[in-house]
Amino acid sequence: MNYEKLALLLKSILPLAIALSLVSGVYLALLWSAQQSDAVAIARQKQLIELVVSKMQSSIAHDQESSTVWDDAVRRVTKDWDRTWVDSNLGSWMHSYFRHDGAFVISADLKLMYAYLAGEAEEEKAFSRVEPQAMPLILRLQKRLSEGDQEGTSDQVLSIGESDLVRVEGRPAIVSVKPIVSDTGDIEQEPGREFLHLAIRFLDGDFLTEISDEYLFEDMRFSVVTDLGETRSYVPLASASGEVIGYFSWLPFRPGSNVMAAATPVLLVSGLCLLVLTTVLSAVLRRRSRRLQASQAELTHLALHDPLTGLANRASFNSQLSRVVDTAAADQAIALLYLDLDRFKQVNDTLGHPVGDRLMVEVARRLKDTAAHAAVIARLGGDEFTIVLQQIPQDEVERLCGALITAVRRPFEIDGQPVLIGLTIGVALATGDAADPVEITRKADIALYHAKSAGKNRYAIFGPHMDELVQMRRDLERDLRSALDGGRQLEVFYQPVYSAVSRAIVSLEALLRWRHPTKGMITPDAFIPLAEEAGLIDRLGAFVLREACSTARDFPGLSVAVNVSAIELKQESYARQVLSILRQYDIQPTVLELEITETTLMDDAGICERNIAQLRQAGVRFALDDFGTGFSSFSRLQSLDVDRIKIDRCFIEGFGSVAGSEAIVRSIISLAHAKGLRTTAEGVETGEQSQTLQEFGCDELQGYLLSKPMPKTSLIELLGAVRGQTSTG
Ligand code: C2E
Ligand code: CA
Ligand code: CA
Repeated sequence: MNYEKLALLLKSILPLAIALSLVSGVYLALLWSAQQSDAVAIARQKQLIELVVSKMQSSIAHDQESSTVWDDAVRRVTKDWDRTWVDSNLGSWMHSYFRHDGAFVISADLKLMYAYLAGEAEEEKAFSRVEPQAMPLILRLQKRLSEGDQEGTSDQVLSIGESDLVRVEGRPAIVSVKPIVSDTGDIEQEPGREFLHLAIRFLDGDFLTEISDEYLFEDMRFSVVTDLGETRSYVPLASASGEVIGYFSWLPFRPGSNVMAAATPVLLVSGLCLLVLTTVLSAVLRRRSRRLQASQAELTHLALHDPLTGLANRASFNSQLSRVVDTAAADQAIALLYLDLDRFKQVNDTLGHPVGDRLMVEVARRLKDTAAHAAVIARLGGDEFTIVLQQIPQDEVERLCGALITAVRRPFEIDGQPVLIGLTIGVALATGDAADPVEITRKADIALYHAKSAGKNRYAIFGPHMDELVQMRRDLERDLRSALDGGRQLEVFYQPVYSAVSRAIVSLEALLRWRHPTKGMITPDAFIPLAEEAGLIDRLGAFVLREACSTARDFPGLSVAVNVSAIELKQESYARQVLSILRQYDIQPTVLELEITETTLMDDAGICERNIAQLRQAGVRFALDDFGTGFSSFSRLQSLDVDRIKIDRCFIEGFGSVAGSEAIVRSIISLAHAKGLRTTAEGVETGEQSQTLQEFGCDELQGYLLSKPMPKTSLIELLGAVRGQTSTG
């Protein structure tokens, strides 16, 4: 249960969690790469600024050389001092042309010859403003010049120089010093005694505007410390000695963040879509799997239940019985009831399957109501049911059996029509330690068989004697087979049937006898059903028919009656076989009368009817045996194709003791006559019975009073005597 809940929770949360982590994973990856690309971009921007500054530094020195490496300039500053010329070639011209902020000319004795500084009119003052930063460079250059140091000169760099990044009055600046030298070499100069040119370029103000415009730096500023805010990027400006003179700062271009800013809404929307999608999808999937589970449950129900009654089916009964047996405590009582409906088949055949189905549903309901505490109630198929009881003492089980039988015998009403059926129950009892599903089922089945043969509408509890009986039946069956295979154990007796009026013998009824080698004479009531169940009745019937035919040949003028089992009549080939035997013995079909019972006529396939019709067509006559005991009413006589009815012995027996017996027999006889049927009374044992039957108009009489069944040899004596009587009388 807990595990299932957990699984369900996981199933519903898992897809969502996966989608969520996917979305956040993509977001984090994007964020990381944005930050990376921002960092790279900022590093590039810093490099660019450093490059621009160092380019500026070398371009200032280069600018200076355009005028300081020049014979004219040497001459004008050393010999023929011309201030106007200096101003327009080495001074303010440099400002207007190269945008230098300051230009100074200094003599070899470090005397200021000329000064220009943007915004400063007074020359001495202008120089004093830059002097602290410029002087170390001036001295260093003079020293190098005097030493003849040429390091750093090339095709592009014509003279050595000193330059540095400095802070002038709080402003960043490039200071560059160059000697004023001959370009041709024509003018001799003493090393270290050259006049010097000093250029200054401030790196704030218009320089910042310029590089901002050219390289698209936003809000570029100079500051001495990095205190302008965290969103800005800073690049330090350091002098040659490594001293930081201040910082450039700007709002850096962050391509990653830009992409991020553009992508975030898209990502958010698509992430949201993904979440919604997975939620919907997993909900759909969950519903699907729920539906699947439901239909699976339905299938298992169908597999385990009888669709008509909703009771457990055979498969389910087997598994449930096993479970009950397996889980029962050693001393726990288990009872298995095997139920069989009586006459259900007839109802089904005569009233139709829909009525049979409804009856079955009603029966199931009554069983459920009556055995409400049963562990299992199952329908095994057809009209068989089982009930498993647990922990119920034997007397309770017996009471329940009685109640079940009473419940089923109570008339059912289907379509306003009363339907009567019965119930027979076989019971097997066991305790947990001695129970075995197969064994307990077998015992209940045997008990059911006994209950049925004891007369239906009753229950029987299995006892060891039943097993003995079963064994005896098995032995008997084996013996019957060998009796059929040969020997003289089977013999047909004949009981004469007399005319009620003339008292003459008109026919003989063939009655089978079995002389068992050890058990003695066995009556047909005991072995005919056995032969039917064992599939031996066809051979038995054919044997009797042959014997009867040979007897008929011996006694011409008498008809012979042979009893036929319903099972024989249900064989397609039955009529053909009978006619073939008649031909074999050269007997006219009109001599033969076949005795059938009412149950024979309950055949839905119509095979019996066809056999009867074919045989009657040939001239064979039919008698309805044991009339009045079956369940078909008088009205059914209408549809029966027989020539005679044999009134059952029980009615004759009841004469004078059971009220109404005479009345029933009288009406049977008159009814039969009205239909053109002849009547035979069975079991006539007394003169009064014979007298009454004669008065009622019964046609023939049969019974111990007149003659018992006898072997053929005795028959020869009797018939000889009778014939003699007849011929002499
Ligand atoms: P059933 O066809 O009703 O046969 C009449 C039974 O009544 C015979 O018993 C007969 O001996 C007995 N009986 C005749 N008169 C009297 C009487 O006055 N008093 C009494 N108490 N009984 C009388 P049986 O020979 O034991 O046969 C029993 C049943 O076995 C027959 O009843 C018949 O249904 C069946 N049966 C006998 N032979 C055959 C046969 O060859 N084939 C088939 N299928 N069934 C047979
Ligand atoms: Ca008979
Ligand atoms: Ca009979």
